Amino acid sequence: MYTRGVSVRDSLISVAPVAPGEILVVDDDASVRRAVIHEMTTLAMRVSQAETTGRALEVAEEKHDTLDCILLDLGLPGGGAWEVLKALRVNPDTASIPVMLLTEGAPREADLIKMVEAGALDHLTKPLSPALLCAKVRVVCERARTQRELKNKLHFALETAANDALTGLFNRRYFERRLREECAHVKRHKRSFAIVMLDLDHFKLVNDTYGHEDGDRVLRHLAEVVQAQLREDDVPCRYGGEEFVLLLRGTTGMAARVVANRLRANLASKPITLGPKDEPRHVTFSAGVAAADDRNAYNADDIVGRADAALYRAKRAGRNRVETE
Ligand code: GH3
Ligand code: MG
Ligand code: MG
Repeated sequence: MYTRGVSVRDSLISVAPVAPGEILVVDDDASVRRAVIHEMTTLAMRVSQAETTGRALEVAEEKHDTLDCILLDLGLPGGGAWEVLKALRVNPDTASIPVMLLTEGAPREADLIKMVEAGALDHLTKPLSPALLCAKVRVVCERARTQRELKNKLHFALETAANDALTGLFNRRYFERRLREECAHVKRHKRSFAIVMLDLDHFKLVNDTYGHEDGDRVLRHLAEVVQAQLREDDVPCRYGGEEFVLLLRGTTGMAARVVANRLRANLASKPITLGPKDEPRHVTFSAGVAAADDRNAYNADDIVGRADAALYRAKRAGRNRVETE
């Protein structure tokens, strides 16, 4: 969940819709698969089928996002059903897909216990009763869908809690948490990281001249330039107002300075049009760089303070420049 990626940003726009019902039937007997497919049409349920353990696992992996239930023949050759159950459980993608076993007649108590312990939710005996099959599949699928909805909502809540609504970058609270984690990480592994504090130059003038909405567009413009330039591993955040902070993992102070200057050059090459006359305007920022490595104490507050002091120097020295601690 920590990676900065398209999915994270996209999740700000909408919660994934609940997919229509879909099940997988795994049986080496084609007539059983056909019977299940036939009954499922009455529930408007999509059905995938597999004849072997290998194919069953492939389909489960491929469709784990949409599968509501797996019907699995206990009589697959060579104890294949136990193998499938085990493989599903150890794979985090497929571990929560409900499985109902299809048994030849009523199972013995020992087998029932083994099924429960292997993670099967329920069983159906062959020959399958169409009414019981439909009733059980319907209930299991409804439950699976409710769970998926909850999972989507939780994912959405976690992601939006970490993001800044205006720019889509990470927010300050998220930055502070990542910074503490990164300090602990580099201390343990004797690595380094750097942060770059950016502050737009004369931004108040942009607001005063073009209005707050165009000011917001400038903030988003900078965020886009930042996002396009950084690596997947980097953590770009809006620290507050027109101030941004970049956490650059595995980076030295010198390399971070290069990154900040590259951003500055990039921003300079991309004027933004503002106001009713679409005037092209160049936006600049000042930046302060600080690094955490074994020369300092890996202290989160300390590194922010040092970057801030360097930023202050950049402003004092005339703006549109990068200073290192
Ligand atoms: P400096 O070069 O010294 O940084 O000057 P500055 O004008 O950029 O800095 P100052 O701190 O004087 O002004 C920052 C401005 O940023 C004032 C505030 O209204 C504006 N601002 C803060 N947050 C937002 C926002 O979310 N949207 C917009 N449009 N403006 C914002
Ligand atoms: Mg400021
Ligand atoms: Mg400013």
